[in-house]
Formats: sequence, structure tokens, C-alpha cells
Amino acid sequence: MPPGALVCPSCGEPHPSDERFCRSCHIPLVIEGAAEIEEPVSERHARARKVDPRYTEGDLVRVAGAMNQAEAEFVQGMLLEEGIPSTLRRTRGFDVPDMLAAGPRDVMVPASGHAAARDVLLEAEIVRDEAVPEPAPWRVLAVLLAVLAVGAVVIWLGTEGIG
Ligand SMILES: [Zn+2]
Repeated sequence: MPPGALVCPSCGEPHPSDERFCRSCHIPLVIEGAAEIEEPVSERHARARKVDPRYTEGDLVRVAGAMNQAEAEFVQGMLLEEGIPSTLRRTRGFDVPDMLAAGPRDVMVPASGHAAARDVLLEAEIVRDEAVPEPAPWRVLAVLLAVLAVGAVVIWLGTEGIG
């Protein structure tokens, strides 16, 4: 196996570099030799059983940011409860040695799990809904026209009264 190959930390199966999750265990792949296995295999299997295969498709996308590794793992656990697998990435621009647990993390989920993950995190108020749109120009215009229309009616009623 070439150095840097992706392997499943649970079953050890090598995977092509465009894969992100083990096909049989549905847990995030690791780079061969890069990471120590930090939890017992049985625990990983228990986690993997929770994963909903519908949420394992597509590229990894960022769903939330966390202040540090502990907070990121908390978010990760919360997502896993809903069957959504995730991986953590050191947030770009914060260059601290790999051994440090400090530093912000990005929580990444497969594209097919992003909407569900966002719902979970919004529900838990972990993320704010950044998708609140600015009022659309046509909407502002409609309100303006409505105000003008009411004003016109009032003026019309007023002139009727005088006449
Ligand atoms: Zn596996």
C-alpha cells in the first residue's frame, strides 16, 4: 500500500482517494499511518451502526464550526445520533501543531447529509441560520406600493368629504 493511502480505521480496508467513508463500516477513512486509532474498534463499530447510508453520499461540505476539538466532537456526537457521519478539519488559517487539541475545527459532512445536519444543529442552536435573506427588492416595492395605495385612498376619501 502506498504511503498516504486511505484506509478504514476499523476494518483496515484500503479505499481510493476520492472515497471519504468506508463502504462496509460507513466510518470516516483515515490516511494510512497518519493517525493512531484513539478508540477501541468495538466503539467505532457501535458508532458506525448508527450511520444512515443515505447521509454518506457526495463530497464533504462544512456544516458548522467549533471552537476546539472537544466542542467539535460534541457536535459530531450529536450528528451521529441522527445517523449523520462527520469528520473534523482544522479550520484553515489557524496553523497549530497537529498534537494540539486547541484551535477551531470545521465539522464536515457528506453533501447528502448537509441539510439534515443543519436541521439538527439549528434545532440545538449550535449554528445560526445564516440563510435569512435580505428583503427582496420586489417585496420592498410591493410594500411601498401598498402604502402609497392606502395613502391615495385616504386622500381620495378626504377630497370626497370636502366636495
Ligand atoms: Zn471498514
